[in-house]
Amino acid sequence: MISIKSFIVSIMFIALLFEGYIFYNFFENSKATISHLLKSSIQTDILNLKHFMEKNLKQKDINDIASHIDNIIIINPIIEDIHILDTHKKLIYHPKIKCAVHNKHLKQKCLPITKISNTNIFQQLCYSFSIKTFDRLKIKYYYANVYIDEKYLNGLINEEIQKTLIGFFLTTCLYIILLWLFFRIYIITPLEKLRQYAYYNENPPSNFTIREIESIRYSLFLTFQRLKQEQEDLYTLSTKDPLTGLYNRLSLMEKLNWLIAKGKRDNKEFAIIFLDLDNFKNINDSKGHDFGDKILLHISQVLLQTTRENDIIARLGGDEFVVVLPEFTNEDTIIEIASRLKEKLSTPIQINNEEYQITASMGISTYPKDGKDVQTLLKNADIAMYKSKELGKNNFQFFTTAINKTVQEKILMQRIIKEALQNNYFQLHYQPKVDIKTNKIVGCEALIRLVHPTHGVIPPFKFINIAEENKSIISLGEWIIQEAVAQIKKWQHGPLKNIKVSINLSATQFQDSELLQKIEKFTQDIDRTKLDIELTESVLIENFEERLHVIKEIKKLGISLSLDDFGTGYSSLSYLKEIPFDTLKIDKSFIDNIHTKDDLTFINMIVGIAEDLTLDVVAEGVETLEQLKLLKEINCKMYQGYLYSKPIPPKEFEELFILN
Ligand code: C2E
Ligand code: CA
Ligand code: CA
Repeated sequence: MISIKSFIVSIMFIALLFEGYIFYNFFENSKATISHLLKSSIQTDILNLKHFMEKNLKQKDINDIASHIDNIIIINPIIEDIHILDTHKKLIYHPKIKCAVHNKHLKQKCLPITKISNTNIFQQLCYSFSIKTFDRLKIKYYYANVYIDEKYLNGLINEEIQKTLIGFFLTTCLYIILLWLFFRIYIITPLEKLRQYAYYNENPPSNFTIREIESIRYSLFLTFQRLKQEQEDLYTLSTKDPLTGLYNRLSLMEKLNWLIAKGKRDNKEFAIIFLDLDNFKNINDSKGHDFGDKILLHISQVLLQTTRENDIIARLGGDEFVVVLPEFTNEDTIIEIASRLKEKLSTPIQINNEEYQITASMGISTYPKDGKDVQTLLKNADIAMYKSKELGKNNFQFFTTAINKTVQEKILMQRIIKEALQNNYFQLHYQPKVDIKTNKIVGCEALIRLVHPTHGVIPPFKFINIAEENKSIISLGEWIIQEAVAQIKKWQHGPLKNIKVSINLSATQFQDSELLQKIEKFTQDIDRTKLDIELTESVLIENFEERLHVIKEIKKLGISLSLDDFGTGYSSLSYLKEIPFDTLKIDKSFIDNIHTKDDLTFINMIVGIAEDLTLDVVAEGVETLEQLKLLKEINCKMYQGYLYSKPIPPKEFEELFILN
C-alpha cells in the first residue's frame, strides 16, 4: 500500500525528471544557437582579417598592419590571440594584448577556418588560414592562427547555463508549490475530512470540488442519514409501544431497575400504579380493534396529561398500563394522583359520534415495602389491581399481605382448574333425592368434585365461583352435562332406569350463546325426561327476556327444571309465574332452623304454593330424623341430605339404590 502523499511525491518526481529533460533540450538548443552565432561571427572576423591581410600585405609589411591586428583583438572579446607566421612557419607577429606569452598556444592544433562549420566551437580553440602574396615575383606565404578566448567562451556558456538553471529552479519551485497546493486543497484535505467524517460521523464536511470525492462525501452523508434513521427506528421499536408511543414493557423494566438501584443507594421510595381497563375485551370484541386502538390512544393521552413530567408511563400490552411515580412522598399523594387518574379516565369521551365511558381498575405497590425487585413490585401491583376489579372495578387499591393471600389462592385455583380440565381431574358424585312417604330413591343430584393428584379432593365452593369468574365454567359445564348424560345412558336399561338426574347450571353458562344448541346436541341420545336442570334465580338477573327464552326452549326439549336454593333470592314468587319450573328446592338454611312445628311456618307456606302450582318440592340438607319427621307432617314430597346419603360416586349410588 502506498500513501497518497508518497504517490504524489513520486508523481512530482517523475514530472520533475520530465521537466529536467525539457530544460536540458532547451539548453542544448540554445547552446547550438549560440555556437552557430559564434561560428559565423568568428568566421566573419577571421575572413575579414584574411581579406585585410591579402589586400595589405601585397604592399605593406606585417608590422604595418600590426595595429589593425591588435585592434581586432581589442574589439573582439572572443579572440584571445593571433599568430602570424611566415612561409617557414616562423612566428613573425602576435599582439601582446591579452596574452603576453605566445608559447601557451603553440601546442594547440589549428583548424582551417573553412571547416569551422563542422566543428565543436567549444573545443576547437584555434582557426587558421593562409595567404599567398608575391614579393617581387617570389611567392610568399603568410599563415595566421587565430586563438579563441576560452575563458570568454566558457563565460558565455556559463551564463546560459546559469540562466537555464535559474529558470529551471524557479519554474520547478513554482510548479511544486502549485501542484502541492492543488493536491492539498483538493485531494489530501478533503480525503482526511472524509476519513474523519467516516470515523466519527460528526461535522459533515461541506461540498468538495473534485467530483469523485464529492460523490463519496454525498454517499457517506446519505448512508449516515439512513443509518441514523434506522437507529432511531430501532430504538423506538425496542423501547416504545408502537400504538401509543408510551414506553414498552422492556423499557419499563429498565427504568424500574434503575429506580431500584437509585432507591437502594439513596434510600428512596417510589410507587407503581398498575392500571387495567374495565371490560375492555367486550368493547374490543364488539366494536372492533380499530375502535379499541382509539380508546387505548385516548387512555395514553389521559395518562400523559394527568401525570407529571418525571412520572414514567408504560403500556405493558393489551389494556394494561403502568404509571411509575419516582418521587414518592406519602400515601396521601398517591391517593390524590390515583383519584385524579380515576376521575380523568372515567370522563366520558366521544368516539365516532358516540359517547363512551371507560373506567380502569388500579393496583398500587411501593418500593421497597411491597417488593425489592421489579417482578415482585409489578406482580403485587397487579394483585392489588385484581382486588380492585373484584371489589367492583373503577377504583384503586393498595397492595396488602391480606390481598396477596386471597389473590394468590385464587390464582392457584385458576391454575388448578385449567390443569383439571386438561387432565380430566373432575368427577360427578350423586346425592339421592328421596320420596318422603315411601323412603325410596326417586332421583339424584349430580355434584362436581375436583380430585387433584397433589391437592386432594377440592370441594365445589372453592372453585365454582372462580370458574364462573374466568368463564371456564362454560367448558366445565359442558363436561358436566355430557358426563351426567353418559350416566343416564348407563342406567337407562337397568334397575336405575327411572332415576332422574339433576345437574346444576350456573348463570355464567347462559352467557354462552350456544348453550341451548349444546344441551340439545348432548342430550339427543337419551330420554330427556330423565334429566333435570337446577337453576338459581341469579340466572335471570341479566338479560331476562333472552334467558327466559332459552329456559323455555330447554323445557320444550322435555328436560325438567328445578328452582334451586329457593327462598334465598329476592323475587322468587314473580319468577315462579314466568318460568315453567317443575320442582322447588327449599334451601338448606330453612331446614337447618326447624326444630319445632312453629319453625315450619315458612316451609309450610312454600309447600302450599307448590301444591297450588302443582310443583314438586325437595327439601335440601336434611340431616336429622326430626327434620324429616316434621317435613313429613307438612306433606313435603321429597328430601335430600346427609341423613340419607352424602353425594357419592356412581358405583356406590347404584349399590345404595339396590339396597333401598
Ligand atoms: P347446591 O346446588 O345447593 O348443592 C347442594 C349442596 O349441599 C352440595 O354441596 C351438597 O353436598 C350439600 N348438601 C346436601 N345435603 C347436605 C346436608 O345434609 N348437609 C350439608 N351440610 N350439606 C349438604 P356441594 O356438593 O359442596 O356443592 C356446593 C355447591 O356448589 C352447590 O350447591 C352448587 O351451587 C355448586 N355445585 C356443585 N356441583 C356443581 C355442578 O356440577 N355445577 C354447578 N354449576 N354448580 C355445582
Ligand atoms: Ca343444586
Ligand atoms: Ca341448593
